[in-house]
Amino acid sequence: MADQKIILVTGGSGLVGKAIQSVVQTENPSNEKWIFVSSKDADLCDKKSTEKLFEKHKPTHVIHLAAMVGGLFHNMAHNLDFLRNNLHMNDNVLQTAHEYGVVKVVSCLSTCIFPDKTTYPINETMVHNGPPHPSNYGYSFAKRLIDVQNRAYHDQHGRLYTSVIPCNVFGPHDNFNPSASHVIPGLMRKLYDLIKDGNTEDKVFTVLGTGKPLRQFIYSIDLAKLFIWVLREYNSVNPIILSVDESQEVTIAQAAEALTKAFDFKGKIVFDTSAADGQYKKTASNTKLRKFLPDFRFTPFEDAIKETVEWYKKNYDKARN
Ligand code: NDP
Repeated sequence: MADQKIILVTGGSGLVGKAIQSVVQTENPSNEKWIFVSSKDADLCDKKSTEKLFEKHKPTHVIHLAAMVGGLFHNMAHNLDFLRNNLHMNDNVLQTAHEYGVVKVVSCLSTCIFPDKTTYPINETMVHNGPPHPSNYGYSFAKRLIDVQNRAYHDQHGRLYTSVIPCNVFGPHDNFNPSASHVIPGLMRKLYDLIKDGNTEDKVFTVLGTGKPLRQFIYSIDLAKLFIWVLREYNSVNPIILSVDESQEVTIAQAAEALTKAFDFKGKIVFDTSAADGQYKKTASNTKLRKFLPDFRFTPFEDAIKETVEWYKKNYDKARN
């Protein structure tokens, strides 16, 4: 078939990769062959291993999700590892894609790489406008360079290698390990461990920080649908923010409350104000996305939390804990 697409998804075993896999399974157009790979298939920090992967699958399109990813405390302690591993992976994937004639690559930035000191809401034109928050500068600078590389592949070789900028993602298949997790899976694990042997009124659910920081959270299934749209329809090298609307921003305290509701937690929530809060807010504008998809309906936050909690309870034994 002339327009057959072979779509290679790096990071296919992760939170976002699994969500794309589950959305694709429900529609699966006949001119698309999807291949989901993990670190077991290739170490993308290694150029030769990356080349072997491309040689094997001969993709025409790539969704590049693989990354070293972690929450605030993991980032703060490992900035060098976040910088180097992500630099290597991104350079290997983009350059190998170019060498193998891949026509389109969609890579993944994040709203947490934006300048620390900025005006709000943040938009796509502001990625490089100042230093990122000091807690995650390694991850941030590595991610920002994807955008620089995309521009350079376009200018020098006419390639359509682009990127998306998701806000905080959560959903089934997240990383719930306390040493590496983001806020929602981290709190979910903590709460479930607290109540799985008895959900009683004397239990205390401690949330690190004041609970006041604001965040936009996107359900992985919603993000997956948007990713697939970008792959098929979005034809600009410039990044596009994939986030819920500004009106859907919630505080960490509200996220913790949604979790206690979903678990039907009987005890009380306490905020440990001696712990770091991270960036107070990083409100991103999805105006550009809304111009293309004005009617896209994001799953309501509490429904998405409920679905994720149900998945976690059912899959606790095999989840990344
Ligand atoms: P996960 O941590 O859930 O998954 C990471 C994926 O990368 C896994 O499939 C992992 O494979 C793979 N990987 C890691 N190291 C290597 C390596 N050396 N070689 C090959 N594969 C590797 O990540 P997410 O799904 O959460 O994130 C996907 C993308 O979205 C990332 O680029 C991330 O930066 C971005 N993002 C995530 C956000 C979030 O809130 N989670 C927010 C904004 C952006 P294996 O399973 O084998 O280890």
